Amino acid sequence: MVKKAELHVHLEGTATPALVRELAGRNGAELDPTTFASDGEFRWDDFWDFLKCYDKAAAAIKSIDDYRAVTYDYLRRCAEEDVIYVETFSSPDHAAAAGMSYVDHLEGISAGIDDARRDFGIECRIIVTCVRHLGASSATQVARQVAQNPHPYVVGFGMGGDEAMHHPADFAPAFNIVHEAGLPTTNHAGEFGGPDSIRATLEHLPVVRLGHGVRAIEDDQLVEELAEKAITLELCPGSNIATGLYENYKSHPINRLMEKGCRVTISSDDPPFFATSVGREYEQTAKAFGWNEATMQQITQNAIEAAFCDEGLKEQLLAQL
Ligand SMILES: [Zn+2]
Repeated sequence: MVKKAELHVHLEGTATPALVRELAGRNGAELDPTTFASDGEFRWDDFWDFLKCYDKAAAAIKSIDDYRAVTYDYLRRCAEEDVIYVETFSSPDHAAAAGMSYVDHLEGISAGIDDARRDFGIECRIIVTCVRHLGASSATQVARQVAQNPHPYVVGFGMGGDEAMHHPADFAPAFNIVHEAGLPTTNHAGEFGGPDSIRATLEHLPVVRLGHGVRAIEDDQLVEELAEKAITLELCPGSNIATGLYENYKSHPINRLMEKGCRVTISSDDPPFFATSVGREYEQTAKAFGWNEATMQQITQNAIEAAFCDEGLKEQLLAQL
C-alpha cells in the first residue's frame, strides 16, 4: 500500500461517536442529545450546523488523558492505513471551553503522539489553531500562548472556523506574533469563500499553505500565482463533498489544480463527521482520476515536503517512501 501523510485534520474532530460517548461516560459529562442521529453517527445538516455539532462533541474531551486518548485512537486508525505522518490542528479555545489550560491540552496530545509512535511507528506534530468566528482578540490570545510556550511538537499556527466571519486582515496581529516567533502558518481560505478570500489571506497573513484553497480553481490567474509561489493546498475532497461544495470526487478540482502546477495534498479534515479517513480519501481520489501509485506517492511526498516539522524528521519520512 502507498504510504500516506496528512496535513489537515482537526484533532477534536477525529473522535468517533463511540469515543465521544466513552469519554462523556467516564467524565460524567452530559452530551447534548442532538449531537447524534438515530443511527449513532454525528448529526448535522450544513456547514454551520456541522460547526455546532463539532463543538458539542468536543465538549466531551475534558482532561489530559482524554486528549491523549483522542490523539492515540486517531493515530492508531491512521497507522492501520499506512499513514506515516499526521499534522493535526489543536484548538486551545475548545480545550478552554472544556475547562483545560493550553499547557495541559498540549501535554495530553503529546502523550498520545508518544504512545502512538511507540506502538505503531507513526509520527505526528501539532499546529495550534485559533477559531475565526471567535474574533481577533481570541486569536491574538492563542497566538501569544503559542509564542510564549515553545513546545517541541508544536510546529505551526493556523485558523479554522467560519470563513464568512471577519476579514483575514483582522487576524494579522495574531499571525504576525507567531510568524515573528519563527513558526510557519496556514489559514482556511477558499473553501466557502471564493478566490477573493484566498487573495485576502495571501495579502494580509504570512501563510505558506492554505487550508483547502480549492476554490482558487475559479480564477486562473490566482492558480498561476499559487503555483508560482509554491503555496501548498491542504485539499480535503471528501470534506468538500460532504459539505456540498462539489457533487463527487470526479467533479473535485484536485486533478485540475495539480495539472496546473499547484502543490496539492490530501487530508481528511474531520473524518467521522464526513464518513471518511485518509485511506479512503486517497483511494476515492485515485479511483476518480485513474491515478497510479506513483501519483499517489507524489501526493505523500508533497505533504512531507510542505510539512511544518523539522528537516531531520522530513528526511526520515521521505526515506520511508
Ligand atoms: Zn479544516
